[in-house]
Amino acid sequence: MKTYVLILAGGKGTRMNAAVNKVLIPLCGKTVLLRSVLAFSPFADEMVIVCRPEDRSIIFDEISRENLPFPVRFAPGGHTRQGSVRNGISVISPLPDDIILIHDAARCLVDNELIRRVIQSVTEHGTGVPGIPVTSTYKICDKDSFVISTPERASLYEIQTPQGFTAGIYLPLIMKASEKGLDFTDDAGLLEYYHTPVKIIRGSSDNIKLTLPDDLKRARTILEGDDPTVRIGMGYDVHRLVKNRNLVLCGVSIPYEYGLLGHSDADVALHALMDAMLGACALGDIGKHFPDTDDCYSGISSLVLLRETCMLLKKAGYQPANIDITIVAQKPKLLPYIPQMAENIASVLKLSVSSVNVKATTTEQLGFEGRMEGISAYAVCTVIRIESGL
Ligand code: MG
Repeated sequence: MKTYVLILAGGKGTRMNAAVNKVLIPLCGKTVLLRSVLAFSPFADEMVIVCRPEDRSIIFDEISRENLPFPVRFAPGGHTRQGSVRNGISVISPLPDDIILIHDAARCLVDNELIRRVIQSVTEHGTGVPGIPVTSTYKICDKDSFVISTPERASLYEIQTPQGFTAGIYLPLIMKASEKGLDFTDDAGLLEYYHTPVKIIRGSSDNIKLTLPDDLKRARTILEGDDPTVRIGMGYDVHRLVKNRNLVLCGVSIPYEYGLLGHSDADVALHALMDAMLGACALGDIGKHFPDTDDCYSGISSLVLLRETCMLLKKAGYQPANIDITIVAQKPKLLPYIPQMAENIASVLKLSVSSVNVKATTTEQLGFEGRMEGISAYAVCTVIRIESGL
């Protein structure tokens, strides 16, 4: 039995008043869409992202960086929600027992427990739709806003996604509805029309749908609830010393008969620093962001990568606060170059030089650094939270 996940991201999100489609807005370091995709990572066997053709390449790039353990396909958005679902379904071939989960990308705070409850319900009942009992009183009105009736509150639920169904139940119904030109604003509505029982399971109050600018604020509060203002990261790197290479440390070229071997300028100290910065923000490591399989990084100055790393932090809502680096090298003597190293880093990261400490040590001829086979570097970096922009 496989689980197919349809992520619906085909709308424009105009009510968000943002410069980009709302699903592409960064929210504490990850876009709304990526957060939704990652939420299903433990459950999906296959995924379809239904999006506008103009958003596809940017979404594809972002998803590709994640090395997801399941195939991701794309389908174009339809004119209606049901049209989008139909487009998404047309690129997969589930068996009748397989599970289809349909999720609005804008509900990016969906948690593992909720998804697990939906899957459990589909396994037991063939359907599973999360809902929250309403706390307000609702009125049904006519077109002139005169009340017709008051539904009993105890029987009312506010419905969320993901909505889950077995393919055997869902696919024949959506085909039938499409042939008849019927259109439903939610997936459960389709089942109701054909008198197929829909099981409601417990939703989550944090599983909000991001529609208006205020929803983003609320989402940030939920995400950052326990997130401390100051975070810390550490980095470590080693490069081999070889002939016929320049030795570059913290952006300073140091005259020496050996240099460090690597794809970029092999600036081991800046590599350790960038890993510390990324680590502090839980953004992975430099291999993920600047892969050495990518020719555009061949021979590149690591100061350029440091600037880009700083941008990644900014996007995630952080800036570096202070830095401490230890370079471990038996030779050459680094002391004369240390002030310039600290200045290079401070200038790229727009920090006061008093917030950047670089030091060097030998290992008393012990280990690979002592035998002058390579140089290693350790870095620690604290970051502080800034208001992340849209
Ligand atoms: Mg390296």
